[in-house]
Amino acid sequence: MDLKALRNISYGIYIISSKKEDRINGQIANTVFQTTSEPATIAVCINKENLTHEFITESKVFSVSVLEQETDMKFIGRFGFKSGRDEDKFKGVNHKIGVTGAPIIRENTIAFMEAEVVMEMDAGTHTLFVGKVVEAGNIKKAKPLTYDYYHQVKKGVSPKTAPTYIPKEEKSEKEINIEKKGKESEKMIKYKCTVCGYIYEPEKGDSESGVKPGTPFEALPDDWECPICGVGKDEFEEVS
Ligand code: FE
Repeated sequence: MDLKALRNISYGIYIISSKKEDRINGQIANTVFQTTSEPATIAVCINKENLTHEFITESKVFSVSVLEQETDMKFIGRFGFKSGRDEDKFKGVNHKIGVTGAPIIRENTIAFMEAEVVMEMDAGTHTLFVGKVVEAGNIKKAKPLTYDYYHQVKKGVSPKTAPTYIPKEEKSEKEINIEKKGKESEKMIKYKCTVCGYIYEPEKGDSESGVKPGTPFEALPDDWECPICGVGKDEFEEVS
C-alpha cells in the first residue's frame, strides 16, 4: 500500500474557529467541504486533542475563514502550530465576532461561513462536525490558498494532528536531505525546527524575513524566528 496516493486528494487551507463562554479559539484545517446545498451545510474534521474541538463540542457552533494564497507562513504557523491553551491566538489579529459568537478572521481571508452543528461523527482521532450554514460572506477578491500550494510552493509541513498527516513524511524529507548532502558545502547544513518540522535551507534563505539565499544557519540574526511556528533559533537542530 502506498499511502502517498492520498496526497493527491486536493484541499484548501482554512481557519476553523469557535467559542466557549467568553473565550475564542481557532486553528488551521484543510478538511472543509460542503455536504449539501439545500439547506447549505458544511463539514469540518477536527482532532480531538485540539482546543477548538473542545470549543465546538461545547458551543455547537463554528466558523470557517477561507485563507488567500498570499497568506504568510507566520500567520499560518500562529494558527497551525500553536495551541490556544498556551496563548490567545487572536491577540493582534484583525477579526470580528460573528452572529454565532465564533470569531471571523478579517485578514488574509477571502470568505467566511458560520455554522451551527447539526451532526457529529466520531472518526477515531478526529470528529467530523456537520454544520448548517447560518451566515456567510465574501471579504476580498483573491485566490484561495490550496493545500498543494502550501506544500509545493510555500514548503509548508503538516502538524501531527492534521487528518492528512502521513508519519513517513518526515522520513522521506530526511532521505532527500541525505541524497542532497553530498553536493553541499560545510556551511550549507540544513536545520530543522523541532516544534513544527520546518527545515531551514541555507541555499534558499528565508525571503519572508529578508534572509538572502546562501545564508548559513549560524549567520541568521539572533532574533530570527521560524517562519512557520515563530520559535527562536535555539529550537532548531541540525539535520543529519
Ligand atoms: Fe517551527
